[in-house]
Amino acid sequence: MHFPEEQLKQVGTLRQSVYDEPTFDEYHPNGTRFWSPDAPISPRHYPANRSDVWVCTVCGRYFLRYLEGGGYFVDHRVRRLLGSLLVDAPV
Ligand SMILES: [Zn+2]
Repeated sequence: MHFPEEQLKQVGTLRQSVYDEPTFDEYHPNGTRFWSPDAPISPRHYPANRSDVWVCTVCGRYFLRYLEGGGYFVDHRVRRLLGSLLVDAPV
């Protein structure tokens, strides 16, 4: 994998605005689930719309990182950003 954390550098975000609350709707036209490896990555849908884009400075792979929870419980979710899974789907 692409850790330790120091190897990862943030290069962007898919969060569009701090003022608009992004949807919690997910995009699974083929019956995939939240954590399915083959689930499509739709930037306007949850959780991509609350994710930041990071790159591994060692191997150059891109990842989406999603910060789950808040307060005392914060969990970093990381998913490889694969172009083959990207879809441009309206909300
Ligand atoms: Zn790496």
